[in-house]
Amino acid sequence: MASTWPREEWPLPEMEAELYWLVLAEEDLFSAILAAQATYEEFASIADLEQFKLLPSLLSISVKVFLSSREHPFVGEHIYADNVSCSRESIIGNINADSKFRDDLHEGDIIRVPKTRLSDWFLVSMDGRGIGGFSLPQVLGEMSEQDRTVVVNEPPFAWFSYRNPVNAADQLAALPVCEQCGRRNLLDAAAFFPNDSERKVEICGLCRNGLRRLSCELFGIRILRTEGAPLKCAGCLHGRPVPTWEPTLSAEPRKPTGFSNEVYFWE
Ligand SMILES: [Zn+2]
Ligand SMILES: [Zn+2]
Repeated sequence: MASTWPREEWPLPEMEAELYWLVLAEEDLFSAILAAQATYEEFASIADLEQFKLLPSLLSISVKVFLSSREHPFVGEHIYADNVSCSRESIIGNINADSKFRDDLHEGDIIRVPKTRLSDWFLVSMDGRGIGGFSLPQVLGEMSEQDRTVVVNEPPFAWFSYRNPVNAADQLAALPVCEQCGRRNLLDAAAFFPNDSERKVEICGLCRNGLRRLSCELFGIRILRTEGAPLKCAGCLHGRPVPTWEPTLSAEPRKPTGFSNEVYFWE
């Protein structure tokens, strides 16, 4: 982890039992995943706010999560999911590929996983500039030269070509602190980069739009709201997507019985 990482603003998660799946990660991937997890709350609040927009303001809000294989909970795959909806303890999204390890898990399925399984997140502006993508250098590093030349022009890699070779953690750590809220605004990262001389904005994009970091009054997840808006997250107001599949620590899949389109409340 870069020594410049602002730990006071984005504390790294404690190594606890739920992060057991990280034990086999190489050191730089391990650091990348911790940085993604440390900024999860900010990511989740932006994902929540997007659900109230009449027109989408982001091209993609997606995550990568770790799913265990049946054989061994430490062995598994990192799988991408979009249409992300976050709650305090878990992430719900549609996976964008069939699972390599589980024949019961297919592209488009809605999964819900504990937030401790997060291995990356992606916020992409309408003009195709991404922030997040913490683990992409390691993903590219594992590919053959030939594969790499093909995928670098495809999402998610193409979303980050503008900041190459700066990595996600260094980009976020370099964000200026807003004079009004005293925090760094993730969404400013792509706009600021890479021209240092333009880092003159003293008030962050959230404050300029009248948004404050508050908590959902039901479950406490961070939300971004203007003065007077209801203090409820999108999940509490509108219900959450019903997951078709959830992993269990025993590595056995569990299909909820009576799967339906009813709204589903869970934090
Ligand atoms: Zn601010
Ligand atoms: Zn809520």
